[in-house]
Amino acid sequence: VIEAGQPEHSIVTTCAYCGVGCSFEAQMKGDQLVRMVPYKGGDANHGHSCVKGRFAFGYATHPDRLTSPMVRESIDQPWRQVSWQEAIDFAAQRLKAIQAKHGRESIGGITSSRCTNEETYLVQKLVRAAFGNNNTDTCARVCHSPTGYGLKTTLGESAGTQTFDSVMQADTILVIGANPTDAHPVFGSMMRRRLREGATLIVADPRRIDLLKTPHLKAAQHLPLRPGTNVALINALAHVVVTEDLEDHEFIAKRCDTAAYRAWRDFISDARHSPEASEAITGVDAEAVRRAARSYATVGNGAIYYGLGVTEHSQGSSMVMGIANLAMATGNIGREGVGVNPLRGQNNVQGSCDMGSFPHELPGYQHVSNAEARGRFEAAWGVDLDDEPGLRIPNMFDAAIEGSFKALYVQGEDIAQSDPNTQHVEAALSSLECLIVQDIFLNETAKYAHVLLPGSSFLEKDGTFTNAERRINRVRQVTAPLAGKADWEVTQELAQALGYPMNYRHPSEIMDEIASLTPSFAGVSYARLEAEGSLQWPCNAEYPVGTPTLHEVDFPIGLGRFAITEYVATEERTNRRFPLLLTTGRILSQYNVGAQTRRTDNQHWHDEDVLELHPSDAEVRGVRDGDWLGITSRAGQTVLRARISERMQPGVVYTTFHHPGSGANVITTDNSDWATNCPEYKVTAVQVEKVSQP
Ligand code: SF4
Repeated sequence: VIEAGQPEHSIVTTCAYCGVGCSFEAQMKGDQLVRMVPYKGGDANHGHSCVKGRFAFGYATHPDRLTSPMVRESIDQPWRQVSWQEAIDFAAQRLKAIQAKHGRESIGGITSSRCTNEETYLVQKLVRAAFGNNNTDTCARVCHSPTGYGLKTTLGESAGTQTFDSVMQADTILVIGANPTDAHPVFGSMMRRRLREGATLIVADPRRIDLLKTPHLKAAQHLPLRPGTNVALINALAHVVVTEDLEDHEFIAKRCDTAAYRAWRDFISDARHSPEASEAITGVDAEAVRRAARSYATVGNGAIYYGLGVTEHSQGSSMVMGIANLAMATGNIGREGVGVNPLRGQNNVQGSCDMGSFPHELPGYQHVSNAEARGRFEAAWGVDLDDEPGLRIPNMFDAAIEGSFKALYVQGEDIAQSDPNTQHVEAALSSLECLIVQDIFLNETAKYAHVLLPGSSFLEKDGTFTNAERRINRVRQVTAPLAGKADWEVTQELAQALGYPMNYRHPSEIMDEIASLTPSFAGVSYARLEAEGSLQWPCNAEYPVGTPTLHEVDFPIGLGRFAITEYVATEERTNRRFPLLLTTGRILSQYNVGAQTRRTDNQHWHDEDVLELHPSDAEVRGVRDGDWLGITSRAGQTVLRARISERMQPGVVYTTFHHPGSGANVITTDNSDWATNCPEYKVTAVQVEKVSQP
């Protein structure tokens, strides 16, 4: 794709990797893409980019791309190449036959945070209106579903509170379970700029992340907690704030539910949340916790940024609520430079959640039991809707194995590779009578599929993504869909084949429908996005220009609600058989399971996943750098090469999951968040032993 020469024209679109949502100019020669150049007018990136967005787009023309629909009667038969019409009719007939035999609830669909808002909206609409049930879920289930639950419960809105630019007003930056310089590089650089200007950095993470090595840091603290003990740490920080009277009493009295606050204050003041009690659980020095709490509460604006190291735990939702408690107690909400900011891993995690992909919520986080909201959708869609939540992804897997769930439509998500406990997922997928996979590559999930529908890459899409700061950015089509159809058209034709009318002529019409049914999107249209560049929801009559900072005057629930966040130890315990704790993360040049980046030159930057371990853990096992290691957990085993690293703390090991061979999800367990079933990817007890080369 990359050629020398002067471009003739350019098209502004949005990066499809992480939740920063950088804008790029796709520079064109005729209909050929010449290069991607960061767009100076981009509201999120201001002309900056990272190595993924700038260079890793060649996968869009990789020979592995699926270019024709395929079907097969059963998964032990070879694929048969067919026309679009045949594939869609095949899928529709199977779905109808399964529902006729096993009931309306026997099928469902999974949307993707990689797809546009318009595409995810259509998939959940297909499930609700054409399948007739609420069995719709999103891959955000396995990353930020606790953010949705935790922030909605405490602050009333399932979203980060700030713009990225807001970090330039922060005085104390508390980063919990996130690695922004690798996973959100453009924002990581912005944060580094603020740190060089003198902001204080506090990092709560089992591993010493690169942010702590920022040159010219004025003040930095690392709280190296044991994996799985987040809630004990956040409770200890809050305990210091309350017992040392560092609260913002004016904010609490004016903005928060005082009864809930008093109950929380009694709870958090208890000695079991003291830094000393916490140290026994987290391993973090009590005095360090005191220093961190004082800094966050008293040194100007305190801003919290967090990632999957917060959410992917059995107490993920409790931890998100603990973060919100701390921000409310210190008055660090509702203005520039403060706030609670989930860093979203995928480009459209925020959007896929906003668009009603969860089984309990219609678009705009309107609960399915809300008769007024349901009535609005019923009138627009011309169907009766279920008022009971449907199945979440893990429930779909369990029901498939148990025999009551028979068919699944998966758009843009490799669940066989990215969901935990691979053996369980594969057993579920192989139990299905009809699996429809819509993807750009023949992924691991497709091995269990009966219908393959070629998907379109981000360069072929027209629509919108919503980034981690609730910013709705336009995604513009740069090249025609390789297989001849855009993803939204395929979903629409499947609905039509099932007998449900969908007749959109352009994604802008889908956005018009979203705006008409979703109060927080009421002021959003393609015409405005063309004129204004981007819009941050809520954008409606109350907030006509959009909302850079949430909760400035009040919360959507009126008063902020403190939540009780009791620490409960994970079931994943170390013992003599599994003495180490494994946690996972990403590196700068690669993205998630690597389906895209491994098909670009970025693969040369990182050609294998390795196991990082502390020198003391290496020494007792006689391990040297580069040795092969067998890693065994209660769920499975894998083999990785050793990298001995002082970044690690003794007793904790770490790997990335960018290569299918890493087997990271073969060894992760079934433990999940108590409120949302988000998998506990970040804590797995393992044994590590030297092995001969696999
Ligand atoms: Fe793309 Fe994220 Fe890199 Fe920006 S920071 S170019 S959105 S991967």
